[in-house]
Amino acid sequence: MTRKYSLDKDQPIKREDIERYHLLKLSEVIKYTGAKSPFYRSLYAAAGIDTDEIKSFDDFSKIPLTEPRDLIGRPQLFCCLPQSEIFRGFSADGTIDSVRVFYTKDELDRIVASIAAALRTLGLRRGDVLQIMFPPEAEWGCDYLVSRAAEACGASAVVTGHDLLEGQVRKIVEHKSTMLIGSNPYIYAITGLAEGRDLDWLGIKSIIMSRGCNYFPFDESIRREVEAVWGCNAYDQYGTIETGLAVSIECKAQDGLHINEADFFVEIVDPESGEVLEPGEEGELVFTTLNRRCMPLVRYRSGDISNLIEGKCRCGAEILRMEGVKRKIIREDERKPSRLSKTFL
Ligand SMILES: [Zn+2]
Repeated sequence: MTRKYSLDKDQPIKREDIERYHLLKLSEVIKYTGAKSPFYRSLYAAAGIDTDEIKSFDDFSKIPLTEPRDLIGRPQLFCCLPQSEIFRGFSADGTIDSVRVFYTKDELDRIVASIAAALRTLGLRRGDVLQIMFPPEAEWGCDYLVSRAAEACGASAVVTGHDLLEGQVRKIVEHKSTMLIGSNPYIYAITGLAEGRDLDWLGIKSIIMSRGCNYFPFDESIRREVEAVWGCNAYDQYGTIETGLAVSIECKAQDGLHINEADFFVEIVDPESGEVLEPGEEGELVFTTLNRRCMPLVRYRSGDISNLIEGKCRCGAEILRMEGVKRKIIREDERKPSRLSKTFL
């Protein structure tokens, strides 16, 4: 008999339901990657992992961690689908020595849907105009994915790329923009150009400061500076090139970043020993993708240091959250591609 589940919007999803979903998905991901990817097949074999026997989170935690240097120069070994099904690749800096990740069109559509969900969380609605301050790219780049997500919310979008402050202000006025999104360092840089002037007359409702794949120290003092100049709330958003941008975002309560648990299983590990840490303990963020068919990531080290937050957010949602990334580890023995991305900056 097939059990049917339905979600009552008045009934919050329980933590144990999410854990059951995660375990089911993780078990599927390990079977799938073990069968389809040469890299994972040899990783599991070398560690003595039986891909049919992932029955608990403890079983899962025995799988070795993976990391950027596993990917560099040989992304095809991670691929689980034939090349003909790859729709778009993204790379950290456009060279063969950098991390490269491939997606099918369906996967990019799913990323659009998750970005749209994040934008709705921050109140993007019909009638709003999202000004996207990412550099314009080749087809299906980050700017395009975010534009489509805005349109899925009923809003419109305008891509203004990187420009000095005056250029962005002109475009805000011209397009009647109501919300801004750009990379964390870029927004901070143009905010600095305001030199204390108030920009609240522009009527911007909120600013999303995207971490992209480019680490930049975001702390409360930076948030306060940006909010003071623009006269609105600034929100932290986190994703990496490998995870495809939309991992987590703050809600209006600014009480930690809500994690997209439908698409990611997130762990915090001790960066030295690789041991899984408890929520609240500071360590390295490690991701497993739950719905990627082309190039799934399993226990992939981000190099980003943060901690998980359990319990209710101030917005009322009982959702796993993370604090903003506090610092990045660059490993000595790792080849170091530039983290400045042409695609996800
Ligand atoms: Zn919240």
